[in-house]
Amino acid sequence: MIAFQYTRAHDVADAVRQIAADPAAKFIAGGTNLLDLMKDDVERPTRLIDISRLPLKSVEETAAGGLRIGALVPNADLAYHPLVAQRYPILASAILAGASPQLRNMASTGGNLLQRTRCYYFYDTATPCNKRDPGSGCSAISGLNRMHAILGTSEACIATHPSDMCVALAALDATVHVAGPAGARAVAVSDFHRLPENTPQHDTNLQRNEIITSVELPARGFAANYTYLKIRDRLSYAFALVSVAAALELDGSTITEARLALGGVAHKPWRDAAAEAALRGQAVAQSTFARAADVLLREAKGFAHNAFKIDLARRAIVRALTQAAAGTPQSQSDKKVS
Ligand SMILES: Cc1cc2nc3c(=O)[nH]c(=O)nc-3n(C[C@H](O)[C@H](O)[C@H](O)COP(=O)(O)OP(=O)(O)OC[C@H]3O[C@@H](n4cnc5c(N)ncnc54)[C@H](O)[C@@H]3O)c2cc1C
Ligand code: SF4
Repeated sequence: MIAFQYTRAHDVADAVRQIAADPAAKFIAGGTNLLDLMKDDVERPTRLIDISRLPLKSVEETAAGGLRIGALVPNADLAYHPLVAQRYPILASAILAGASPQLRNMASTGGNLLQRTRCYYFYDTATPCNKRDPGSGCSAISGLNRMHAILGTSEACIATHPSDMCVALAALDATVHVAGPAGARAVAVSDFHRLPENTPQHDTNLQRNEIITSVELPARGFAANYTYLKIRDRLSYAFALVSVAAALELDGSTITEARLALGGVAHKPWRDAAAEAALRGQAVAQSTFARAADVLLREAKGFAHNAFKIDLARRAIVRALTQAAAGTPQSQSDKKVS
């Protein structure tokens, strides 16, 4: 047992004050990731600042026609919220594809954004890992890398970001609102997570003394033509090998707007402007979807055990876009939402 202090934050300003005062402190929200990391000796905070009672648990409509989601809204409440289920079903579908009901009851919106990779070596303190112990090496590059990234990798790290929710948030062009000692700021979800480059210990562009206060969705929800397709080793309670959030707007059989985000393939939810451009203005057709998949995967690179992901991703993109265009979103979880 490693001793640590436990305090509660009374409000957002107090939370910022407490985290700024202690470089080795961590916030705890639902605790579903952080406590596992502490038990495995991967994270060793000297102090846990409990933010779970802060008033960041509401989902509110914005003046711009979107939604503002408090950082402490539990994943389950968010997925089943009527406005999310009706206007942003791709987000509900992605959340319900993740974890288990018990975990989704505890997991918070902010904690989901900040959950850490599921790379086996990251959790195994007996092995080198640049993300856990910068400069020690990457065990996955020449080791077991079946779950690992095929896009945006570096010589320092090939881990993936494991979230499902974040893939849908990327497709929806969400914004993350944060507060810190210098005040509040907003970060586009696409800029929130980082590629590993040579500093894989930094998963995101959040400063260590900042707190996530909310996530904002723009008005556009793609409720008519969307799919979140998650391919994994078993049908539930498993992280994605590849997942695809596909969202379209159609005028007849012409694609007028397209969003395509992938999970399980990179250190961050993967979006590619060229792949989306390859869809806009085109007719709904398998050939259009296959071309977009080829564009998105043009720089994909496999390792010893995960090269299969490139073809898997190509097929998953085509299938997700086909389902989205037909207005028939896959997944059992959608049934629970209706
Ligand atoms: C067995 C298992 C299976 C899972 N399967 C999936 C899956 O298939 N798909 C999926 O997407 N997820 C999955 N998860 C992950 C789960 O979604 C995350 O653990 C959860 O979302 C984290 O939220 P939390 O509130 O519990 O975070 P915590 O564990 O409390 O915190 C996680 C991190 O975020 C920080 N933090 C939390 N809130 C804030 C905030 N507001 N501002 C700043 N920092 C903050 C903490 O300091 C900590 O570093 C799984 C988890 C488990 C244990
Ligand atoms: S892939 Fe990243 S997280 Fe996994 S061992 Fe290598 S450096 Fe560590």
